[in-house]
Amino acid sequence: MSAPFPRPDPASEPDARFWSSLAAGELRIQRCASCLTFRHPPRPVCAVCGATADEWPVAAGTGEVWSYTVVYRPTLPAFSDRTPYGAVVVRLDEGVFLVSNLVDCPVDELAVGTRVELAITIVDDDLALPLFRRALI
Ligand SMILES: [Zn+2]
Repeated sequence: MSAPFPRPDPASEPDARFWSSLAAGELRIQRCASCLTFRHPPRPVCAVCGATADEWPVAAGTGEVWSYTVVYRPTLPAFSDRTPYGAVVVRLDEGVFLVSNLVDCPVDELAVGTRVELAITIVDDDLALPLFRRALI
């Protein structure tokens, strides 16, 4: 019997729009409707200007590996058969950061500065994850 796989709640606010857009095949990032500052993770109030109005434009889905680590010892039993794996921090071209994984990238090929593109991964009917792959250019 395998351990339960930890997962976000795609219906929780204020990030339900983030998860529903991924399920629809898009990456949408919350942006302040007043000062146009992108923010992630989603928050109800803009930290720059204090406005509560937001909008959710589609992100380009491109960015670069800002940082990474290789996980050799699983932090949870559910990850025990996945080690070693790379956990990456991607800086999207919109300027926000996402913690994610690169698909089809051996851990010894992880590198800061690698250009990446979105690889939405469908987990099941309720959840899609914003994973990334190395960009071709
Ligand atoms: Zn703002």
